[in-house]
Amino acid sequence: MVSENKLDNTNKPASDGDRRTERELLGTPVSRGLAFGIAVRLHGNKRQFFRIEISSENIAAEIERFDRAVNACKQQLTQLADNIGDLSSAARGIFEFHLLLLEQPDYVEDIRSLIRESSTNAEWAVKRVTEAIVDKLRPTSQSGINEKQFDVLDVGERILGALGTTSDIHSVIGPDSIVVASSIRPSTLVEIAAFKPKGLLTEHGGWTSHAFIMAREMGIPAVTGLKGIRRKIHGGEELIVDGFSGKVVIDPSSETVAIFRDRSVTPPFTAIPMGATDQELATVDGRKVYIWANAESFESADELRRRGAVGVGLLRSEYMFGQRIGTLPSEEEQFHAYRKAAERAGQDRIRMRTFDLNADQLSFNVIERESNPSLGLRAIRLSLEHEPEFRSQIRAMLRANVADNVDILLPMVSGLNDIVRGRSVIEEERVKLISDGTDPGTPNIGVMVEVPSAVVLIDEIFEMVDFVCIGTNDLVQYLLAVDRDNESVADWYQTLHPAVIRSIKAILRSAESADKPAITCGEMAGSAFYAPLLIGLGAKEFSMNVNAISAVRSVISGISFEESVELARMIERSSDPSTSEMMIKQFHSEKWPHLFPARQSLGDNTENSISVAKK
Ligand code: PEP
Ligand code: MG
Repeated sequence: MVSENKLDNTNKPASDGDRRTERELLGTPVSRGLAFGIAVRLHGNKRQFFRIEISSENIAAEIERFDRAVNACKQQLTQLADNIGDLSSAARGIFEFHLLLLEQPDYVEDIRSLIRESSTNAEWAVKRVTEAIVDKLRPTSQSGINEKQFDVLDVGERILGALGTTSDIHSVIGPDSIVVASSIRPSTLVEIAAFKPKGLLTEHGGWTSHAFIMAREMGIPAVTGLKGIRRKIHGGEELIVDGFSGKVVIDPSSETVAIFRDRSVTPPFTAIPMGATDQELATVDGRKVYIWANAESFESADELRRRGAVGVGLLRSEYMFGQRIGTLPSEEEQFHAYRKAAERAGQDRIRMRTFDLNADQLSFNVIERESNPSLGLRAIRLSLEHEPEFRSQIRAMLRANVADNVDILLPMVSGLNDIVRGRSVIEEERVKLISDGTDPGTPNIGVMVEVPSAVVLIDEIFEMVDFVCIGTNDLVQYLLAVDRDNESVADWYQTLHPAVIRSIKAILRSAESADKPAITCGEMAGSAFYAPLLIGLGAKEFSMNVNAISAVRSVISGISFEESVELARMIERSSDPSTSEMMIKQFHSEKWPHLFPARQSLGDNTENSISVAKK
């Protein structure tokens, strides 16, 4: 039987008699703000879950749920082994081993007993028992993980997938909760956001990780890069999260709480004046700039206009449907979601991006696991390989285009053929809808330029599309071969790398000669620090997190285009990202001290910029 971890069980604040001593951790701030709350541990990798206490009258039903999941897994595995036939005896052997494990009484029975004896949800019990087996298989002389251990973990993941999602999150996550995890999947964040957690703490991730992009949109303070956090925070501790400096205080004394509460009254960003959002945006010397909002959900066009956006520049469709295990939403489900979004956009345009998923997010199949998902069957590639599903998504978007305000955006194109194939699917579905009596309108078709090969081919790309979006998050990742989600290579994720600056410049120049829009997206676009540089490089349109709009507008309306070009020329000549950052800071403080005041209070180490070293 697996021994219980006492602390993991609690998720409740320590009582006065059990006062723990104050400790501090320092990580990387990835979403600004201060949060005070109670730690709640999030578990799992592909399928994430909380430990949930099950009442005694529901234990039998929970065990039944688990048994149903095990049976579903057995069926899946038998089918997979049969389908493989004689083609691959190695793969067949893997599935047979997985089946064997599911037949092992001490695996399945241990899980049942843990559910019963600890009154816990099946997910938690699966995780504990699976990990105990993996630990037993770990050879003492070797670190790392071997194939057998991977297989056992895979079986655990498969059961978690078959358990589906539960709606019991409300019993663990409340308005006081600070979610603590190894990493947070964006779909998990979408799911838990409804329960309004106060903050997020993780070990892994980076400034441009999707979960943190969304945390910033939702205004949830977050800190990442907290090494060994799972050993340091077990659940139930009181926490302070400082999303400005990256500081986390565990079990703070009442004096520390008082100090932080005092600081929370004067947030450091009041220094930047809020720009008027009801006027056209232009630099002081009259260069017009258009700001769009990134959105997965939004209230209305009025609300976006109030926040200073001219429309929705990037709708990441993959985040509109919550946490899904191995399936895509049906055409009807998508149609309703896109229709609602298009209606909310009113007279404004809305650019809907097709699913930017990787194969791993769609499958629990060990054989299909990719060792390099970002270089694998991702985004447009996955769509083209799963053409019927791609067609469903395109049809859903076209049908939603009732007011002719929808544009379609294809992610991660790496060659012209991706565009030819993507466009022909769109055109064929358009023609079919027309012949069925539905008016799909005339959406503009655009692509994300975020892979170096697309930058090289940018002139040809502009001949084939109506607009492009520059995905700076991925452009940095792919251009510099640095994983945007891996905090250990954060120092190499350099937004001001000369190759990045030259690429952006080349895309903007090509847009100018093609006389077509290039919308700068990604976290760089939503940073007030980078706005003058981007304007100087030629950017006229930006799409960003709604919460970033006000500060970026303020900066843009206070700078001149002429000076921005001067800044851009200096940075284009610089070969070192750290020097470039210093040069930008100096330029800002000499030319625009009113827009970039020296940092004050709170020990804020995020500056106005996305620091070169960290993000
Ligand atoms: C980007 O890559 O910059 C982008 C906007 O898309 P995402 O962050 O969703 O990859
Ligand atoms: Mg991208």
